Amino acid sequence: MMATTTALLLTGCFTSHKGTKGDNTVLATEDPFAKTDEVTINFKKYKGKEWHYPLEGAKVISPFGGKRPNHKGTDIKTKAKDKVKAAFEGVVTFSGEMSGYGNVIFVHHPSGLETRYAHNSKNIAKKGEKVKAGDVLALEGKTGNATTEHVHFETRIGGQAFDSELIFDHKKNTLRDVKLTAKKRNGTIEVKAK
Ligand SMILES: [Zn+2]
Repeated sequence: MMATTTALLLTGCFTSHKGTKGDNTVLATEDPFAKTDEVTINFKKYKGKEWHYPLEGAKVISPFGGKRPNHKGTDIKTKAKDKVKAAFEGVVTFSGEMSGYGNVIFVHHPSGLETRYAHNSKNIAKKGEKVKAGDVLALEGKTGNATTEHVHFETRIGGQAFDSELIFDHKKNTLRDVKLTAKKRNGTIEVKAK
């Protein structure tokens, strides 16, 4: 069933486990900077089921930035048609084909984070669908500008891409024990993890 509104309310309690009702509840498609200049996401409090590595067993074949300054994601690879999984709970805001990306899925998370999964051979999750961490979104492929099967994995906040290594240890395929802080200043967003 398709959602009739883009403002799907997710009620996940990600940054606090003892918040009052409504605490830490963000419209999944809302700009996290709508009412503040600083957004923090405390990944230290995430329990096992609240995150999932997007491509189990993957190795990085091309980092964020690096030799390609316009490279806005981390390229991770296993083999063709492996399952690409949602990193966190959220709502699918785009599922389709896009120039460069090929078949791509966008997921907005209640924390304010957005993740993107590109070059899929097949998209499985549909726009408007609510997903949990670890749900299958797509199958690994090389659509768009990819020359080998892999997942171009992006992490964004307020629309701005940042290096997913800040929150994921891609060597260990694990979430890092960090608190992410994103500060908006003069139209740019500075992202740090500690
Ligand atoms: Zn890439």
